[in-house]
Amino acid sequence: MTSANAPATLDYDDLGFGITRIDSGMIRPGLAALYLLQSGGECALVETGTHHSIPAIQALLQQRGIAPPQLKYIIPTHVHLDHAGGVGGLMQCFPDATLLVHPKGARHLVDPAKLKAGAIAVYGADQFARVYGDVIPVDADRVQAMEDGAQVNLGDRVLTFHDTPGHARHHFCVQDALSNGLFTGDTFGLAYPELATAAGPFIIPTTTPVQFDPQALQQSIKRLLALQPERMFLTHYGVVEHPAPLGSALIEQIGAYLEIAARARREPTEQWEPFLRQQLTDYTFARAGHHGCTLDTDALQRVLGMDMELNAQGLAVWMRSQTG
Ligand SMILES: [Zn+2]
Repeated sequence: MTSANAPATLDYDDLGFGITRIDSGMIRPGLAALYLLQSGGECALVETGTHHSIPAIQALLQQRGIAPPQLKYIIPTHVHLDHAGGVGGLMQCFPDATLLVHPKGARHLVDPAKLKAGAIAVYGADQFARVYGDVIPVDADRVQAMEDGAQVNLGDRVLTFHDTPGHARHHFCVQDALSNGLFTGDTFGLAYPELATAAGPFIIPTTTPVQFDPQALQQSIKRLLALQPERMFLTHYGVVEHPAPLGSALIEQIGAYLEIAARARREPTEQWEPFLRQQLTDYTFARAGHHGCTLDTDALQRVLGMDMELNAQGLAVWMRSQTG
């Protein structure tokens, strides 16, 4: 029997280095992760999932014997709601936590009306409620904006923040010296576990509206690789090792997106989005085949369809921004 008081489902994985990957539960398993970092009696969350993810996070901390005051930092990589939707609710549950956020994202979490209205405009009120639940404001005096190069200590670990525009202008990545890893949010693309093969993870860029900037994203990926990380902790989804070839694959795909955008420009403007959706889908599914993915087109569509739609929308928004 289930009841409103039933413990939230916990799907998590201990990755070593005092890092636990938690499934946010958004839409489907294996879609959006968040990470618990522990060191010397202190802990932090990188990403928050949505407002619906909060009970599962609380349950895990309780299970680990972590008292609320031990949660020192809540760190969304950017203010899109699959990364930051749970911030306000979590800040209420963990009254000693400080919110670390990109300087360009801070005001949107203090006053999330615009974020909320934007998501409702895209998804409609019903789907917004189902997927995101709510977005609660955060007290401005609990927010610390992290400039490029800023650092904080968490127990024995040092976290360094790197400004990484391209997916969004309010995006940073978090470098963790202890794991020689980076929490990359959406900057270092998406690699869903269902698509991994003997050749490794199948990685694709995410070009969500409305701030996608292809050159900036390519530069940010190069910047991350120049830090010589051994692993990337992706929000979508999980840890990937040996990032250099994956970064090259992302940069190459962003280049291919630009060629597809150039072809789309020959179409009437109202045809741009459907044209882009079809072309990006064909291109990406063909790459998946070359990578050794054995999923059929329907199964690929179930895993990647939403991202192909969002990538087409984001690329179209960028194209319009380039039209004088
Ligand atoms: Zn995301």
